[in-house]
Amino acid sequence: MPLLDSATLAACDLCPRRCRADRAAGARGICGATDTLKLARAALHFWEEPPISGEAGSGTIFFSGCPLKCVYCQNHEISTGNFGIEVPPERLAEIMLELEDQGALNINLVTATHYAHLLPGALAEARRQGLSIPIVYNTSGYERVEAVHELGDLVDIWLTDFKYADSALGRALSHVDDYPAVAARALAQMAAELARRGGAAERRDGTWTRGIIVRHLVLPGHADDSCRVLDMVWDAVGDVPISVMNQYTPNAAMRAAGGELARAVTDEEYEQVLDHADDLGFSQMFWQEGGAVDESFTPPFDTTGVLRRADA
Ligand code: SF4
Repeated sequence: MPLLDSATLAACDLCPRRCRADRAAGARGICGATDTLKLARAALHFWEEPPISGEAGSGTIFFSGCPLKCVYCQNHEISTGNFGIEVPPERLAEIMLELEDQGALNINLVTATHYAHLLPGALAEARRQGLSIPIVYNTSGYERVEAVHELGDLVDIWLTDFKYADSALGRALSHVDDYPAVAARALAQMAAELARRGGAAERRDGTWTRGIIVRHLVLPGHADDSCRVLDMVWDAVGDVPISVMNQYTPNAAMRAAGGELARAVTDEEYEQVLDHADDLGFSQMFWQEGGAVDESFTPPFDTTGVLRRADA
């Protein structure tokens, strides 16, 4: 049986957590999801990397819940708080078409890991009704190889995090034991799927129609681990476009807890990581100017675009 089949939900093992929640019977997995699709926002987004957002914006769909539970999450309202509105699965295809009508350069599925079983049907329906823009799979990197493979013909652009090289850090900050090994295997599979499709491709204006970007958020006090992450990425897939981010912003829980995660990343830490990326030989690198803590990177999770206009 393929992994991305609704039968999977009876003992869910869609993601590497494999928590086996009986979502088909309405139980909630560690990710917070039941069998019902829940979305937090569907709108144009202008703050992804330039080949993704371009001038027109990326048609971003935020899924509620998340298999990881990163303590510092910037989207904690939806990832841990599970904020969103339940909608029927047919709505997903409609939303994609509405975003294309609004001028989106692509459909950007943000943390759809725990709803991946709905994607083949929704994408087939949206394509049948004329969806013509690429699909971006925007993920924490904590994915099963089987899921990546089954999505390989549907996803055009992989926008994947690689968060930690040290398993202990993954355990402490995201409550999973195996993040580095899982992320490395998933990344290698994403690169293989892209290669099978013919590799990266772009429009005349430089925006992408196929590709991969590996994102890494530098955490305060952990620049050495960031450098090891870059080593792992290089070892897994070689010279791939990377996006090294310094936008870490302590959330309320991190500010209350104190310690290193209560502050922003220093310029020295960020430069250490960027220098290491240069030393390794990454030839395409996105980085951020200015400091952290720019709220514009985090859109309001107000369910914009989730409901049909008549239902809103
Ligand atoms: S997708 Fe959710 S329910 Fe399924 S294995 Fe992962 S955490 Fe558990």
